[in-house]
Amino acid sequence: ADVTFGYDPARPVLHDLHLAIPAGSFIGIVGHTGSGKSTLLALLLRFYAPQAGHIDIDGLPLPTIDDEHFRAAVGLVPQEPFLLAASARENIDMGRGLADADIVEAARAARAHDFIVALEAGYATPLGEGGARLSSGQKQLIAVARALAGRPRILFLDEATSRIDSGTEQLVQAALAELHGRTTVIAIAHRLSTIRSADRIVVLNHGRIAEEGTHDSLMAIPDGIYQRLYLLQQIGE
Ligand code: ATP
Ligand code: MG
Repeated sequence: ADVTFGYDPARPVLHDLHLAIPAGSFIGIVGHTGSGKSTLLALLLRFYAPQAGHIDIDGLPLPTIDDEHFRAAVGLVPQEPFLLAASARENIDMGRGLADADIVEAARAARAHDFIVALEAGYATPLGEGGARLSSGQKQLIAVARALAGRPRILFLDEATSRIDSGTEQLVQAALAELHGRTTVIAIAHRLSTIRSADRIVVLNHGRIAEEGTHDSLMAIPDGIYQRLYLLQQIGE
């Protein structure tokens, strides 16, 4: 059913949004600032409920999934990863009491393992206040490892690659590609290369889905929003 939502119900910021997210698919969400990307993510995370309609995720209407299941199924890589003044291991475990093998597996999948073992005490190395020891790209990879360590069925990324260098971005891209088919990935992307291989890219404009398709199909829309965004970024890089 089509979704309408406003923080103030009298002033909707998302309109008539039809969105079904098949299990195991990789969905990219793009759009200009203020177009409603973070709002859509907040609905997907059930921070808010839409005034009308609902989103289907993994074949289930979002409101029907019970809280406990939902929390266990979902992983989030936020725009600003929050790192503890603790070891690399503890920053991935986050008090869940995970086995070492699971921590390492998640770190490998997130492409964080290599830089962690290169630290003087490996996984036991204190990362400092807010992860002060790490580059912003490395912090991001720790956040990806943390999310993957919970073995989420659905992984959300909010602009997770906007501030990292292109080398690290390629690592994240590779990590996402590997999840394909097993984990549903929903990525808000500022840097369009991150979602280039998405099964479906949703282009928001003023709270509506303006364009939708694969990278190639969106690039073929004459004077399309996605095409213009993409070409602008090519010039910028
Ligand atoms: P950006 O690329 O800048 O992050 P965005 O696409 O994520 O933008 P949103 O944050 O979803 O955009 O904002 C969509 C609209 O909703 C904007 O008009 C914004 O002002 C409004 N909005 C966002 N958050 C709130 C809020 N908590 N309360 C009221 N209005 C909000
Ligand atoms: Mg946003």
